[in-house]
Amino acid sequence: MKIGIVGAGQVGASAAYAIALLGKAREIVLIDLDPAMAAAQAEDISHAMPFAATSEVRAGGYADLTGAEVVIIAAGVSQQPGETRLDLLARNAAVFRIVTDQVLTHAPDAILLIASNPVDVMTGITVRLTGLPAHRVIGSGTILDTARFRVLLGQHLRIDPRSIHAYVLGEHGDSEVLSWSSAQVGARDLTSYAQDSGAPITYDVRARIDDGVRRAAYRIIEGKGATYYGIGAGLARLVTAIGGDERSVHSVSVMTSDVEGIKDVPLSLPRILGKTGVIGDVAPEISADEHAALGVSAKLLKDTLEAVRL
Ligand code: ADP
Repeated sequence: MKIGIVGAGQVGASAAYAIALLGKAREIVLIDLDPAMAAAQAEDISHAMPFAATSEVRAGGYADLTGAEVVIIAAGVSQQPGETRLDLLARNAAVFRIVTDQVLTHAPDAILLIASNPVDVMTGITVRLTGLPAHRVIGSGTILDTARFRVLLGQHLRIDPRSIHAYVLGEHGDSEVLSWSSAQVGARDLTSYAQDSGAPITYDVRARIDDGVRRAAYRIIEGKGATYYGIGAGLARLVTAIGGDERSVHSVSVMTSDVEGIKDVPLSLPRILGKTGVIGDVAPEISADEHAALGVSAKLLKDTLEAVRL
């Protein structure tokens, strides 16, 4: 499989590194506004190959995307002092207008994986800018929040997080919804399993895990300035699911026709991923409180998307 990555900063390079180590891509092309940065990242990552797998990792221009099946967009500008979130979004939309135009000129059939933040709104903006069908524009959404939720539940229950089926829904951000009511351990309801196994989900446990998921990015940014390894591995997982036509389920952000009565809104729900992108949704059965919270999240994202001047 050939993968393109636009934006060879920390997130783009971490994704390239994770994809390369997994050995799932024949070729990875890194593109950046700063070609020296793209070249340096590609050279560094290529030196990991003799220790791991066989991928050609190189820097290039947009013309080098020809034949790419998936293109990750991790390009973006950062918030300037005094700049509002909407001003930042407008500037990132301008970046995406140029980037997506170039990508689709050279890789017209590629699936776009959006990683730039705020990822849900950027996913919606990409659909609007490109006119692509929603199933081909996939935001990384809450894959990381879902991973954090599973890790913390796994630690509490002493169970491998891969055997915990729990999802974070809605926005990748403050309004996200941890779906406790639909969470399962193996095939058992989370709450009853936790009770029986002597590690009940008390009010305090729930509050600690909720905070651990919601505040993870803030804590990591405080300690090291940015988060990138987790999302890099998550993007590699999505690339693997698409490339292998896996039909596996991931909480990715996609323009969705109706969420709690809100029309055409980009947010995360568990979705089936395969060769053509999103193949279907697996909306969980959730509690009334979670429905209400998901509606709030959807409304917030819809309002933000509508407020961006394209
Ligand atoms: P992150 O931590 O999200 O990866 P970085 O600032 O490290 O953030 O990386 C963002 C990257 O996006 C930078 O390397 C920057 O040069 C790149 N970039 C910004 N604008 C464009 C653009 N128009 N085309 C390609 N790359 C871009």
